[in-house]
Amino acid sequence: MFEQAMMYEPTLVLNQEVTDLQREENGLYVLTTHSGDRHFTRTVIIAVGAGTYKIRHLQIKDGYLQEGEHIHYEPMDLSGISGRRVAVYGGLSAAVQRAMALSETAEQVTLIHNREQLNALEEELEALAKSPVIVKKPYTITDVREDEGGRIEVFISDANGRDERLVVDDLVISHGYHFDLEPLKKWGFTFENRRIPVNNKMETKFEGVYAAGDIAGYPNKWRLISSAFTEAITAVNSAKKYLDPSAPSQVYSTFVRK
Ligand SMILES: Cc1cc2nc3c(=O)[nH]c(=O)nc-3n(C[C@H](O)[C@H](O)[C@H](O)COP(=O)(O)OP(=O)(O)OC[C@H]3O[C@@H](n4cnc5c(N)ncnc54)[C@H](O)[C@@H]3O)c2cc1C
Repeated sequence: MFEQAMMYEPTLVLNQEVTDLQREENGLYVLTTHSGDRHFTRTVIIAVGAGTYKIRHLQIKDGYLQEGEHIHYEPMDLSGISGRRVAVYGGLSAAVQRAMALSETAEQVTLIHNREQLNALEEELEALAKSPVIVKKPYTITDVREDEGGRIEVFISDANGRDERLVVDDLVISHGYHFDLEPLKKWGFTFENRRIPVNNKMETKFEGVYAAGDIAGYPNKWRLISSAFTEAITAVNSAKKYLDPSAPSQVYSTFVRK
């Protein structure tokens, strides 16, 4: 599929987040990326999935808890923390799985969750009960500090306001993530059910701008890989027709040779 996409030698720009989309008076769109690069185009296909992926940071006393050498946010590679005492904060399957996986190599693992109920599969909960993981719930982390020896002090509080202090070597925050649509709102898009409304040509409300994949919305939409592929084909063909109305409506990329 990649080879097929490269057939016409498109310019690939990777590791760049598009932060702005503006239309100039001459009709050209300008896409600006986080590094300040600007790309000029007459057509744009928005295919940003459910939005810009943002980690859900933990709010503590002094603001949001920042990542550090021993303070980790998921997703990350935790292979370097074997033989250490670790606290995992979270209550979803990912947190339960992470705590159990760590317990195979860590000295001690404590799973902290702010609700009574862990939101994981039945078999995961059964495995957790049999594992050496210490479960503390419902407890909220109120503060986190790093002492001079590099150990992490985790201050937790239960529903009755009873406070405890845990000292660990590493803290893993597994609070999931959210998708941010704010940048797209700034570009002038409006949303229905967190999607940019499109018609059956994948046209958005802006001339020459199309949407495909999870971000595109229309009645009976399925958020699936196959839908995204089909919508991308429609969007590319619509963009081509917009640039060149005489372009054929249907072409194949495979050829039958005699
Ligand atoms: C947990 C889970 C399980 C799923 N399982 C299935 C399944 O089994 N079968 C199935 O068919 N579908 C499944 N899906 C749905 C499927 O993943 C999506 O429908 C599909 O990935 C949508 O493709 P997309 O290209 O629209 O978005 P994505 O695959 O999300 O790609 C969007 C890309 O845009 C990038 N991006 C975002 N904002 C910007 C920006 N401002 N600038 C530059 N780049 C940006 C992102 O980094 C990302 O690389 C699942 C989804 C989830 C969350």
